[in-house]
Amino acid sequence: MPTGITERNKANAELASLGYSIKSLEKELWQPKVTLYRHTPAYNNSGQMSDDIGTTIKNLTSEPSYIARCARLGQFTFPPSESCICPWCKERKEQGVDVTEEDGATSVVSPLHSKTCEDCGAILQAASSGGLSTKFKYHKERLHSEA
Ligand SMILES: [Zn+2]
Ligand SMILES: [Zn+2]
Repeated sequence: MPTGITERNKANAELASLGYSIKSLEKELWQPKVTLYRHTPAYNNSGQMSDDIGTTIKNLTSEPSYIARCARLGQFTFPPSESCICPWCKERKEQGVDVTEEDGATSVVSPLHSKTCEDCGAILQAASSGGLSTKFKYHKERLHSEA
């Protein structure tokens, strides 16, 4: 078996374990350049959302090890959806957050949970209450820990 095929199978297996379906691997990967969609929001240093779910990151290399690294951060070559098998979409589905599909494009209903930090007034948002409390704890530890 040629090395190239083995490498590719290995990469496919890793990507599949991170949330890629075999179908999406065949369709979306192995193109020269790919667009990635965030399946989990990005946050800046003060804990505020900088990029929402569904935000695209364009023109990235489709090198499998790079794609795998992105997948570990919740960035995939397909939009987030209800049928997505990645850990982030699965968690949102379990939390009952609406993900609607329209015209092939996917839009995610914006975060349902928010909390204002009493120390600095920052508004923290998350798609789930569990996510929010984790984020709030992290925010407090980072910015307001007196120890
Ligand atoms: Zn997903
Ligand atoms: Zn604060």
